[in-house]
Amino acid sequence: MTGNPLLQAFRFPCGAELKNRLLMAPMTTCSGFYDGTVSNELVDYYRARAGALGAIIVESCFIDNSGPAFPGAIGVDSDGKIGGLARLAAAIKDKGSKAILQIYHGGRMVSPALIGGRVPVAPSAIAAPREGAPVPAALSAGQVQDMVAKFGDAVRRAVKAGFDGVELHGANTYLIQQFYSPNSNRRSDKWGGSVDKRAAFPLAVLDIARQAARSFADDNFIIGYRFSPEEIEEPGICFADSLHLLEKMAESGLDYVHFSMGHILRPSLVDKEDSTPLIRKFIRERGAHLVKIPVIGVGGVVNRGDAETALAAGYDLVAVGKACIAYPDWAERISAQEESGAPDHKEAGAPAQPEQKETKREAAAGESNIKAAPAALPPAEQARLELYIDSTRREELLIPEPLWRFSLVEAMIRDMSVENARFHAGTYQEDLSDDGLRIVMNVTLETDRIKDITLASGADIDEAFAACFNTVRSRILEANSPHIDAVAGATAQSEAVKQAVFKALMKSSREALSENGGEAVLQRYDVVIAGAGGAGLAAAIEARDNGAKVLIVEKMPVVGGNTIKASAGMNAAETRFQREKNIVDHKAQFFQETMSGGHHKNNPSLLWYFVEHAPEAVEWLDRHGITLSDITTTGGMGVDRTHRPADRSAVGGYLVSGLLKNVHQRHIDIMTDTAVSEILRENGKVAGVRLRDSEGEEQIILTKGVIIATGGFSANSRMVEKYRPELKGFVTTNHAGATGDGITLLQRLGADTVDMKEIQIHPTVEQSSSYLISESVRGGGAVLVSQAGRRFCNEMETRDKVSGAIIALPEHYAYIIFDEQVKLANKAVEQYISRNLTIEAATIADLAARLKMNADNLAATLQNYNMAVAAGADKEFGRVTALRRPIAVAPFYAVRIAPGIHHTMGGVKIDQDTAVLDKEGDIIEGVWAAGEVAGGVHGGNRIGGNAVADIIIFGITAGRQAAAHKFKR
Ligand code: ADP
Repeated sequence: MTGNPLLQAFRFPCGAELKNRLLMAPMTTCSGFYDGTVSNELVDYYRARAGALGAIIVESCFIDNSGPAFPGAIGVDSDGKIGGLARLAAAIKDKGSKAILQIYHGGRMVSPALIGGRVPVAPSAIAAPREGAPVPAALSAGQVQDMVAKFGDAVRRAVKAGFDGVELHGANTYLIQQFYSPNSNRRSDKWGGSVDKRAAFPLAVLDIARQAARSFADDNFIIGYRFSPEEIEEPGICFADSLHLLEKMAESGLDYVHFSMGHILRPSLVDKEDSTPLIRKFIRERGAHLVKIPVIGVGGVVNRGDAETALAAGYDLVAVGKACIAYPDWAERISAQEESGAPDHKEAGAPAQPEQKETKREAAAGESNIKAAPAALPPAEQARLELYIDSTRREELLIPEPLWRFSLVEAMIRDMSVENARFHAGTYQEDLSDDGLRIVMNVTLETDRIKDITLASGADIDEAFAACFNTVRSRILEANSPHIDAVAGATAQSEAVKQAVFKALMKSSREALSENGGEAVLQRYDVVIAGAGGAGLAAAIEARDNGAKVLIVEKMPVVGGNTIKASAGMNAAETRFQREKNIVDHKAQFFQETMSGGHHKNNPSLLWYFVEHAPEAVEWLDRHGITLSDITTTGGMGVDRTHRPADRSAVGGYLVSGLLKNVHQRHIDIMTDTAVSEILRENGKVAGVRLRDSEGEEQIILTKGVIIATGGFSANSRMVEKYRPELKGFVTTNHAGATGDGITLLQRLGADTVDMKEIQIHPTVEQSSSYLISESVRGGGAVLVSQAGRRFCNEMETRDKVSGAIIALPEHYAYIIFDEQVKLANKAVEQYISRNLTIEAATIADLAARLKMNADNLAATLQNYNMAVAAGADKEFGRVTALRRPIAVAPFYAVRIAPGIHHTMGGVKIDQDTAVLDKEGDIIEGVWAAGEVAGGVHGGNRIGGNAVADIIIFGITAGRQAAAHKFKR
């Protein structure tokens, strides 16, 4: 071996090879989801640190749900966790480092609060020697055996998830150590008593880990053991005990042992007279088996010289803690540093003793006493690293928020705010209105954090609001972000508070920007999304999950766009939910029916992509907690394929709140009351967006990817009239934000448009409120009747045909009529009733009287219809679907309706990847469009249920494409 082996490959006894001797130490990040599943932040955190290191030992993962020892711990306790862990392992391995998973059970160190108030378990019913520690329940002999088996299951799952090895966590006074310790193990069965009996549990865990590896993994699966060399308690594990156990483990077969210490050269904590580093004692005293097992050191390694000192002291491998948090590319940086000249011989003289204390928390993995030269980005390759973190760089360093607030990391944070403030410090007053009540809120900011939020209005604030506010306040302060979950049952109020905080942050960061002379702190995102309707929200989630930093910009005060008004559901053919209900459907039929409904003007390749991906999109939603398992139908579809929520409620509200929840879980930034007013380009490439808020303030956000998901233009009467003059004066069902901005924005970049004249009028709009009466009411069995009391068309025809039939009536309006059975099967009806849109009567004759309609005609019409239902055939008008039940159960309902402008099928031209096309058919780089803003899928007429499918399918695609673009650069 030549010279210094630090950066040379290393082989474990099992045969697995590391490309160098550097590992990232396992450190708790507290950043898992509440149930211990892996969060995206965590994947990003590890991915950013993988690459140049030989291996990453992923933080301790609990093997049983009674085992998490800290909040935000991740788990390997059920097969359901394998997926998330697999993403973690892949993120590390794809970058070229080995991935090792540390597994543990906290035993008596578990706080009942973390396990739903249950009593923690341990070898004996003795509380840990710390204040307030609970008395645990002693495991029965059978439960000990079960616990061993659970370690085996955990290893199997680690293998399945793709990890290259596991580290059994026998340190930090967790369960394995508790069994070996005479302090915590006072058992008298085979698991306790003599030192060898106390060793039975760690050895059994090692044994089952080896068995699991033999059964499920390749030969070169790594199994390591981490140990705390001594306990300070009396009685407690002494260093000789540790060597005794490790010798036995080595004899059994092991790939490494890993010291858990605050510093690589730490001497005994118990024998204060002896200053010999424990590693030297270890080297001197280890037996014939242990000598063959590699040993990892940890603690205080920041620069290359520290790592070389570790090897010189006798360690074979070096694990690095805090330096890897502060410097994601730590291994690259120290590879560029010059060799320290430390001798590479293991028996080298012991370096000076550092003054460090061991802490029980893994995050204490290393505390440096080394203070050196320059700051974050060293100008010269050899720059020595200093252990601190710039307070403004959390996101850039991909440090999850909970880890950022963890005391040991917090101690490394240096406030750089004077040079580079995120916010202008001060108190900002924001108005929020809650159901007509005007409330003023004070948001107090420091240069890098939200200090407090308080209500400025006084005693007049209602109690319910105050209670919600208090909860939201503590969540916001804890997360130090407005992106928190809403309080259950008070979504609107929570959202209002969050938005007010967000506005204050934006104002303040604009002020900080001007104080800093502009350019320096322009915010940068990988992807900016214009529009927070269904397409924009789905795109944001998918882009985030594909590694992009995302900003959503919404011009209205609230999110949801037209999507929130969607009622019928989402069409898809050949789905799991259809199969569960024995509905036979075919994608080809879905394609044909949409084509024919769209008068064959649809773009076939876009439509085929849509049909093909619809079932996946239904599953995607289900995976994100949005389950559309009930199925109905809409006009123009020959099969029940309109998927809606199980309780049959309108799809829009359910969809938007579900998507929004996912957006918040991912801490995706949203600005409301702010429009994208321009897409900025430099040298033909997208470089940013100009935003304009409701107060006319402008700002620029830097980005290289923009997704336009601004919806259609039904609410822009000038634009509607430009393309279809005869629609002048029609009401619209759309929200006020549907003004076609996205089309104009993209046209300025040269985008082509398609089908702009294809504007759909929806047949059943209540005119005084512009409220749309969902097609699912007809789909549920309602009929349309003229003022004369007669049906006049097949109600299940496409929207254009039904609208045409209504306009052709002398009165230009009609009534949608149904009974109690239809109402019960369709939750949307409750909304119509509560908005006073319905006319209700106990008999058909009464209903006719209230509608000033000929009662005999209406009775005969319904009788005929009921006969058609019984026969399963409507000879009069040819209705073949939704002949559900006779209209016969009181009360009876009617809503007066007429057509209204509903959907703009036309829009910008896109390809299947949602890339925007110019007039030559070429892709305009850096912009994608999804949802109603894009044209082509629906041709001349959109089928009910196809808009929701459109926004989800193409929203997901746009998110994925825009995120991938980030990695292309
Ligand atoms: P889709 O169904 O295609 O998702 P939606 O109508 O549901 O469309 O959502 C589009 C959203 O885009 C609306 O909430 C609308 O207010 C918003 N929007 C429209 N123009 C802009 C703009 N210039 N900047 C930001 N948001 C916009």
